Amino acid sequence: MPRIRPVKKKLKLAVATRKSRRPVKPTPKLARERQRSILQAAETARAEAEAAIAEARKSHERLREAIEILPQGIVFLDAEGRYILWNKKYAEIYSRTADLFEPGVRLQDTLRVGVARGDYPEAVGCEEQWIAERIAKMHQPGERHEQKLADGRTILIEERLTKDGGVVGLRVDITELKQREASFRLLFDGNPVPMIVCALDDGRILAVNDAAVEHYGYGRAEFERLTIRNLQAFESEPPWDGARSSDEHAARTWKHVKADGSLIDLAIYSRELVYNERPAMLLALMDISERKRAEARLAFLAQHDGLTGLPNRNLLRQQMDDVLAHTRRSVDKVAVLVLGLDNFKAVNDTFGHGLGDRLLRAVAKRLRSTLREEDTLARLNSDEFAVIQSGLTRPEDAVLLARRLLEAIADPFLFDGHSLVIGATIGIAMAPGDGDDSEKLLKNADMALSRAKNDSRGTFSFFEAGMDARAQSRRKIETDLREAIQNEQLRPYYQPLIDLSRGRITGFEALVRWPHRERGMVSPAEFIPIAEETGLINGVGGLMLRRACMDAASWPDEVRVAVNLSPAQFRTGNLLALVMDALKQSGLAAKRLELEITETLLLEKSSQVLATLHALRALGVRISMDDFGTGYSSLSYLRSFPFDKIKIDQSFVRDLGANREAQAIIRSIVSLGKGLGVTITAEGVETEAELSCLRAEGCDEGQGFLFSRARPNDEIVELLRAQRGADTAVSREARSAQARVA
Ligand code: C2E
Ligand code: CA
Ligand code: CA
Repeated sequence: MPRIRPVKKKLKLAVATRKSRRPVKPTPKLARERQRSILQAAETARAEAEAAIAEARKSHERLREAIEILPQGIVFLDAEGRYILWNKKYAEIYSRTADLFEPGVRLQDTLRVGVARGDYPEAVGCEEQWIAERIAKMHQPGERHEQKLADGRTILIEERLTKDGGVVGLRVDITELKQREASFRLLFDGNPVPMIVCALDDGRILAVNDAAVEHYGYGRAEFERLTIRNLQAFESEPPWDGARSSDEHAARTWKHVKADGSLIDLAIYSRELVYNERPAMLLALMDISERKRAEARLAFLAQHDGLTGLPNRNLLRQQMDDVLAHTRRSVDKVAVLVLGLDNFKAVNDTFGHGLGDRLLRAVAKRLRSTLREEDTLARLNSDEFAVIQSGLTRPEDAVLLARRLLEAIADPFLFDGHSLVIGATIGIAMAPGDGDDSEKLLKNADMALSRAKNDSRGTFSFFEAGMDARAQSRRKIETDLREAIQNEQLRPYYQPLIDLSRGRITGFEALVRWPHRERGMVSPAEFIPIAEETGLINGVGGLMLRRACMDAASWPDEVRVAVNLSPAQFRTGNLLALVMDALKQSGLAAKRLELEITETLLLEKSSQVLATLHALRALGVRISMDDFGTGYSSLSYLRSFPFDKIKIDQSFVRDLGANREAQAIIRSIVSLGKGLGVTITAEGVETEAELSCLRAEGCDEGQGFLFSRARPNDEIVELLRAQRGADTAVSREARSAQARVA
């Protein structure tokens, strides 16, 4: 504890000085006077001394109080290194040695005892030298060093020389700070995330961790010669300054150059801190280049079609809206052309998706090369594309483009030795007029496309007011048809097939009839395409198969029934089971059932379709090729499957009177049939002239209004009874029957 003794010592000295003043020789009176005055002086001196003592005591007290307030330990030593004064904090820091310092005790003596006790780990093995150095340090002006204590604490020592050669020493316990620094180093150095500490003022890099060295490719020394700005790729993006002002915890992104010159994207988390007493910034740098690339890819994918790389519907609509906004201010027009591929589904089903995909890419390429740079081409869905044609002055400009696009698609596509002809149909809507936003225009172009598909595939069609109503009526047909199938309202009518040489009925073709409660008899030509598009055809087909087999089972044994099959029914995979079921349920012999398929089914030779056809034939069912001659390579289909019957399309019969080519074609088909051993049937026979011509050419069978329209089963039963009974000339009978029906 601090004492006041040193001050008392000074006071004694002052008294001694006064006593030593030399007096003059005294007389008795004088002596008395003098004595009195001496006594007085002594009294005054004593009083002065006491006041001085009191004053000294007070200032000492104030000093003591002052040093107690300090948060650091403080100690005063005299020129010989003796303890003069210290505060509680000092005593606390050196609590183990507290009993070793007393006023007057020398610092080096307490150090020596401490060293002996092992209080100073740094002194172990070099005790005397350590003490000497420590004392020498004490007399250096502005000494500052850290001292380790055996109990793990670290004390910061700062010492200043006083005017009288003594020392004022400060002691701060920096143990906690040291621990924090150590854990920072641990976190920093060993962190797998690249980290940099740089000075706040000039951006100089003060420290980097191993991960940063490894990742960025700069050597540690090289790194520390750089400023943070050397690592930034773009001056225009000053993340350094930005990082300071913005929320410290939020990541910012930053383009950064690596030592090899490559550019990476970084997410930077920054935090201000003091590093080696300099205001600094700690930056944790996460390489997010991969994530950025993935994001860019995603953004692209969200707006593009993955297969062709073309813009998708979203991007198309955005671009269309832009073009429309721009066009509103000019006299120009904008056309939207929606292009649908005609036979894509068949190609995809028969050759598989691999080839389908290649085909779509090739189509995209051809379309693109037909367009100007500024026209947008997009893929809307599997087999539909759209073009935005801007800057038109007249609709004819859209016609020209539509023709060019159709021509581009018309040429065959060659893949793996296959020559594929797919063809396309186009619907066009124009702005202003057909709609002023992308959604409306696309919808109307789409509607024009479905119209063109129904009416005349391979061409284009403009949107017209009223198409909407048509589309609506199609939707109504769809819902009504669904209901009709469920309630079994559809039924077959039967049209006879006549053996032309013997004039007898050999069988009937079942044609679906739909008596609609509001619209009367709806033509299959109207609802079959809708049924095919919507998949309802399977319901229609199944129903027709069952009913036809059931009805035919009650006819005479030699009379067959022909049922039409749609290509869609082959895609379901259960056609064979459906046929077997219909035969079983009705008890009809398989050889009495004929199935009519069209060339489109055989557009390309699908192994699945062929397998089903062979399986059906193996049951004993006969297979006919319907509408022969309307496809583009009818003859080649005859090679792919052994048909039992070929039905020459009505169009040839219709042309018989008008041109000689039709007759030549029929003649060659008949001779082909003879060669292959296949029955040849002519469809759509309406006149006696046609009949006699077909007879002359040796055609086996005929079907048409000349003989009879399709009729309900009860009338057929009558017709057959009449044939059996009277064995009349069928043509005559049929004519009277037709007269009855019509
Ligand atoms: P299709 O298979 O070629 O059937 C022959 C069509 O020609 C029938 O039309 C028939 O009424 C008509 N027709 C018959 N003789 C003559 C004639 O002398 N002159 C004229 N101008 N036409 C004649 P319908 O019944 O309207 O059937 C049209 C098409 O609908 C059929 O053509 C067929 O492709 C399809 N279809 C009809 N019923 C079914 C069915 O049950 N299933 C499937 N998938 N399609 C069917
Ligand atoms: Ca038919
Ligand atoms: Ca036909």
